Amino acid sequence: MNITPKPNFIQVFSGECWLKDNKTTYITDEKMKDEAYTIEINDGETIITSKGEKGKYYAELTLAQLERAGKTPLCKIEDEPEFAYRGFMIDSARHMQTIDEIKAYITAAASFKMNVFHWHLCDDQGYRIESEKYPNLNKIGSYRKCHGFKSDNMEPYGGYFTKDEIRDVIAFCKEKYIDVIPEIDMPGHTCAIIASYPELTCRSNATVEVATDGGIFRDILCAGKDSTLEFCYGLLDEIADLFPGEYIHLGGDEAPKARWCECADCQKRIKDNNLKNEEELQGWFTQMMIAHLRERGKKVICWNESLHSGLIGKDDSIICNWMDRKNYCSDFANKGGKVIAEDFYHYYLDYEYGMTPLKKTYEYNPYFDGLNSEGEKNILGVETPIWTENVKNFDRMSYMCFPRLIAVAEAGWTRRSNKDYADFKVRVENQRESLASLGIKQADKKCWDPGVLVRGKIILGRLKSILNPQAILVFLFPNKNIDL
Ligand SMILES: [Zn+2]
Repeated sequence: MNITPKPNFIQVFSGECWLKDNKTTYITDEKMKDEAYTIEINDGETIITSKGEKGKYYAELTLAQLERAGKTPLCKIEDEPEFAYRGFMIDSARHMQTIDEIKAYITAAASFKMNVFHWHLCDDQGYRIESEKYPNLNKIGSYRKCHGFKSDNMEPYGGYFTKDEIRDVIAFCKEKYIDVIPEIDMPGHTCAIIASYPELTCRSNATVEVATDGGIFRDILCAGKDSTLEFCYGLLDEIADLFPGEYIHLGGDEAPKARWCECADCQKRIKDNNLKNEEELQGWFTQMMIAHLRERGKKVICWNESLHSGLIGKDDSIICNWMDRKNYCSDFANKGGKVIAEDFYHYYLDYEYGMTPLKKTYEYNPYFDGLNSEGEKNILGVETPIWTENVKNFDRMSYMCFPRLIAVAEAGWTRRSNKDYADFKVRVENQRESLASLGIKQADKKCWDPGVLVRGKIILGRLKSILNPQAILVFLFPNKNIDL
């Protein structure tokens, strides 16, 4: 049957009907889980059973897909998600989208029963949230001197979302049972913030500009100065006031420690707090932010690098596992910490289909290596991001994300034992028209799983594009101040 993500139990009877001619009956069953539903399609009557509105909403999404497919077989469907967290992330920092484009994307993701919108709103290349408290974040931090990312367009690039626009998106998501989680990446990926307020970095005499290229940058927030902590608390207060959800994402990825190694304030902080090294200083800094947000009733999510300090415990933060070479995430989950599976090699949608074919995304197992039975219970769900260094407009974004986002949605909803790639490809091709009605152009079927030769060519091209000598230096020597 043409339902995506595939329901977990379907029993088909003989006969079929037009759903639009059926009367619909709702039944409440208090014993069911929030997102679970059952549908019975009889000749003349459709019966939906759920605990409340959320289950009913998912049942209606299923019925909408069936209705679009024509006559429906008489059947019974029993369904509930595999994972509680079914996320998609949009990077609006490197390249912005319009609010209408973001809503179209959300509508599409919601139609496949995803329920978390992680919104990446600030990075080295731009700060994208209206700030009344820190106006330079918009005046300076929201703009870069040219389009950047190897574009030959030398016009300035930038902008930010007003608080009203953000509230509008949050309200839009609420109708679709989607939580919105803003990401304020710290202490790294903060060139735009530092360009706005240079005193926040270790070297206050340094000139840091809003970045115009990708990579990892050595100038990060100074964890040694009390004034930096005060700034961050103020910033997070403003974010906590704007976003009503339970979670704020604090980033924490790719924070090279070279500046901290040479900063008297950072070194004093390490000594005063009996910390072993700069990695522990990041753990300490993150803990200060977690404690501040906890007082505001907020919880935290971080990227997996936040575990490197050893100071983030299972009750402090949920962890997004994007690249973990040393089993930090499996150890964390095995000891009770909650983890979201977001493996870059399978779920990063800015990677070409030649690097990450649809089949590879579809077949990724969110119960990643190293988990024991306790750890598996702590996999909260899946998330798939679209980073936008090389995704400069919505057509490109649509092509890269669809249908791979749908593959992740199915991993989030459908039990692994019920998944079937051949069947998925047929169902997903049937979504093309409804996606087009949202302005989303799904990639052609021939692009989904390219052959070996095409893949080789694309992988070589990608390697060439990321061979930036300065970025490689920072990656290889994160704690050394070596520059070209
Ligand atoms: Zn410092």
